Amino acid sequence: MKLKSCFAVLLLSTTVLPTAPVIANDIAPSARVSSAVLVREGPSTNTAIIARLRPGETATLVDQISGWYIIQLADGTRGYVSKAWTIIKVDAGDEPLIAGSHKIHVIDVGTGLAVFVEGPEFALLYDAGSQDDLHGGEENRVVSYIRAVRPDLSRIDHLILSHPHKDHLQLMPAVFDTYQVRNIWESGRVNKTDGYCHFLKAAMTEQGARYHDAIASNATRSVTFTGSGCNGTVNVRQADMMSTVPVELGVTAKMQFLYRDAHPYADPNGNSVVVRLDLGGKRILLAGDAEGGERELPSTSPSPRSIEAKLLDCCASELKADVLVVGHHGSLTSSRAEFLDAVNASIYAISSGTYAYRKVRLPDAEIVAELESRGQVLRTDRGDAFRIADESRACEMRERKIGPDADETPGGCDNIVITIEENSPITAKYSGLVD
Ligand SMILES: [Zn+2]
Ligand SMILES: [Zn+2]
Repeated sequence: MKLKSCFAVLLLSTTVLPTAPVIANDIAPSARVSSAVLVREGPSTNTAIIARLRPGETATLVDQISGWYIIQLADGTRGYVSKAWTIIKVDAGDEPLIAGSHKIHVIDVGTGLAVFVEGPEFALLYDAGSQDDLHGGEENRVVSYIRAVRPDLSRIDHLILSHPHKDHLQLMPAVFDTYQVRNIWESGRVNKTDGYCHFLKAAMTEQGARYHDAIASNATRSVTFTGSGCNGTVNVRQADMMSTVPVELGVTAKMQFLYRDAHPYADPNGNSVVVRLDLGGKRILLAGDAEGGERELPSTSPSPRSIEAKLLDCCASELKADVLVVGHHGSLTSSRAEFLDAVNASIYAISSGTYAYRKVRLPDAEIVAELESRGQVLRTDRGDAFRIADESRACEMRERKIGPDADETPGGCDNIVITIEENSPITAKYSGLVD
C-alpha cells in the first residue's frame, strides 16, 4: 500500500536526521492525561523513560515520525512522546482575549462545517459535523481543536445547529460530553437519522441547557425515532423560541437569526439557520447550507423560494457583513451574485473536503473565482486536496492533523482563524499547521 511506503520514507528521513526543526509548535499532554506523559529515549515503549510531561506543561515540537513526536523540554532534553497521549498546541488562541476582541475559528473537519467563536465573555459553536472524520471521544475533531486553542474552556454558551445534516451535526455528541452547553439553537426541522436522534437526545439530557427552536416558546413536542442506531421517543422541551430579536453575547457582541424556518422542506438545506454575529463592530454572516437554487453560475438570480432570495426580500440591508462563512461548502447551489452584493464581505471562508456531494466535490471552481474577485478567500480543503494529488505531501499533511487522531481521513490541516481587535483591521489566516 502506498501509504505505508510513504510512512517508511518519513520514518527513514527523521531517523537519520532527528534534530531538524520542521514545525514551530508546542506539544502538550492531551486532556485524558491525569498524571504525566512519559518522555522516552526512543520511539518505542521498550526504551528508557528520561522525563515526564505533566498537564499544564508544554515542550517544543522538534520533529515527528509515525506514532511519536520528538520534543525538546525546557532544559534542552530531547525525547519521544506518544501521539496517542499528546496534542499539538495551536498558536492561534494562546493569548487571552481582551475586551472588544473576538476570534472566529472555521475548524477543518474535513467535508463538513464547524465554526467556533470566542469572545471575552462567551464561547459559541455553529455546527459540528463531517462526512469523513466521525471520531468521537478524545479523537473528535471539533473537541480536539477547541481544546488545543482553549484548554481552559469548560462551557459553550451557545450551540447552534444550522440544519439536521450529518456534515453539520455528526460530531455534536462529544461536544455535549465535553462541555457544559448553556443554550441550543436549531430550526426544529426533524430529520429521522441516527445522527440527528443522537443530537436531540444529547440536547434534551444536557443539564441546565435551554433549547430554542423556530416552532414554539415554552412548550413541548415529541419526536419518535425508529433508526437501528438510535431510536425511541424524545420529549423536546422548548424555551423561548428563535426570533429576529438580537441575543446579547457580551458587551460588544450580539447575534441575530436572520433566517429560521422549521417547515419540513424536502431538502433540509432549506432549513439552514442563517445567523449574523456582530462582534466588536464587525459583522460575521454564517450561512450553513443556505442555497440560491439549483446548480447555476453566480450571475443567475436566486430562485424565488430559496433562502438567498427570501433574505434579499426580507432584509437585504441586514446581510451586510465583513466576513461570510460561505453557504453550502462553496457549491454552485449558493452564493448568487445578488446575494454576495448584499453581503459585500471582504473575507470569505469555505469549509469543505474530499467527500463528493452528488458526485461533485466542493467548492466549485466558479464560486471560488467569484469570491476571489470580491475579497480574500480561505478554504479548509487545501490539505485534503494534497492528500489526493500528492501522496508524499499527503503524509506530511495528515501527520499534522490537530489532536491525537492521525488517521487517514481528511481535515485538520488548514483551520481558518479570523481575528477582530478594537481599532485594527480584521485579519484572517490559516492557523499554525500549514505554511
Ligand atoms: Zn453541508
Ligand atoms: Zn446540508
